[in-house]
Amino acid sequence: MCGVFGVWGHPEAANIAYLGLHALQHRGQESAGIAAADGGRITSHRAMGLVQAAFSEKDLAGLPGTAAIGHVRYSTAGGSHLRNAQPFAVDTAAGSIAIGHNGNLTNHEKLRAELEQQGSIYQTGSDTETILHLFARSRGESVEARIIEALTRVEGAYSLVLLTPRELFAVRDPRGFRPLCIGKMRGQGEDRWLVASEPTSFDLLGATFVRDVEPGELVRIDDTGLHSSMLPMRSPRKTCLFEYVYFARPDSVLDEASVYEVRKALGRTLAQEHPLPASFLAQGSAAGVVIPVPDSGVPAAIGFAEASGLPFEMGLIRSHYVGRTFIEPQESIRHFGVRLKLHPNRAVLEGKHVIVVDDSIVRGTTSRKIVKMIREAGAKSVHVRISSPPVEWPCYYGINTPTRGELIAASHSEEEISRYLEADGLGYLSRQGLVDGVAHATRGKLAKAPDTRFCDACFSGDYPVPFEGESSLPDSSRRNLRVVAG
Ligand code: AMP
Repeated sequence: MCGVFGVWGHPEAANIAYLGLHALQHRGQESAGIAAADGGRITSHRAMGLVQAAFSEKDLAGLPGTAAIGHVRYSTAGGSHLRNAQPFAVDTAAGSIAIGHNGNLTNHEKLRAELEQQGSIYQTGSDTETILHLFARSRGESVEARIIEALTRVEGAYSLVLLTPRELFAVRDPRGFRPLCIGKMRGQGEDRWLVASEPTSFDLLGATFVRDVEPGELVRIDDTGLHSSMLPMRSPRKTCLFEYVYFARPDSVLDEASVYEVRKALGRTLAQEHPLPASFLAQGSAAGVVIPVPDSGVPAAIGFAEASGLPFEMGLIRSHYVGRTFIEPQESIRHFGVRLKLHPNRAVLEGKHVIVVDDSIVRGTTSRKIVKMIREAGAKSVHVRISSPPVEWPCYYGINTPTRGELIAASHSEEEISRYLEADGLGYLSRQGLVDGVAHATRGKLAKAPDTRFCDACFSGDYPVPFEGESSLPDSSRRNLRVVAG
């Protein structure tokens, strides 16, 4: 997964991009980069690691100009190497351009093979590079025309920021899988524009939220202001549900819906769909407690506690000095990582019936460790509640999910998963509960025909865009891949 950022018209553009990336750090922790334009040329700096580690003062001072784009990355296509860190900046016959991409192109393997056949030399393992090759080959008369021509060839998920010495572009694919929004800062007379995957940096930067970039919209910002046009491709909207469930920061507002409010509402629905066991209730509310798996489970647990009438407590304490456990690829480290990150709070758990709320189960390794931890801290019983449906299918549109073979819900029933977790009970939110919860929060924008306006492929296997890269699919996914047109 990735985060993208752009700034236009600011004398300290690189510094602003640096702060913007800080506020998007939750979207990618593997590498970070900034490309800046000073009206004549583009300079860039990319490095592995967190934003704070990736840039020194000297690095930022080496990025002059009043416009910049930035990127934080967690690899979904292409390995974890510096050469895959974005933004990519290149010189083409049509001039210099830099690009930052959030999402995954579903037909890039096919396009890459075709372009390589015709002589293109790839520098990276990333799908994003394909857009640059297509741009470089285009005969379009303007930069915008070349971008549009390149994008008509690619399929899948892309929220892009592109920078030339004279323009900043923000583009969202026609389905709008990944979020992208526009903000504005007050300058000295002139407008200073921001674009970002999420509006998380706008308060920090003293900027105001202007609006979302619409699915299929291309926004061009230059010295004459902001100009909007629509890509010629048309597709029904397919906003990613998992952004609301897990990925986005809770203080974000995506397509007019507060992520925090959505998560709380999902927790409330979850409590209605999976009420407390009768034996639990018989002992009165003082016997039970609702705890979140921090941080991702907190808003849903608050909603669950509200709806169930049980107290909300912090039964697990999170160390903020460890990265996301999911990141470490090796199983041994991952298991260890949960204990490093979460610690049971005995004062809350001892002698209690515990409802532990998390946003999702992927492989099941985290939840299993957590259940054990809570029990060892003296809980009488441990009931797991998950504020999303079972994740059964890998995402091909930019969210990091392991192979289908590793997704526990792909091959196990809820009862089997509950047994694997060694929990006293397990309840997942229904798909309808999730869709209705998100649609309701979008206040009309997505509320019409909500079932068809969201991408729920990771829960349903209904892929709105076919993935055309058989070679990179694990056997189990390939065999089971169901593709729907859309
Ligand atoms: P697992 O142990 O594999 O079941 O991981 C589940 C945990 O990972 C939950 O606490 C989620 O909040 C978190 N999670 C879910 N999806 C992702 C993702 N794509 N990247 C990182 N963490 C995730």
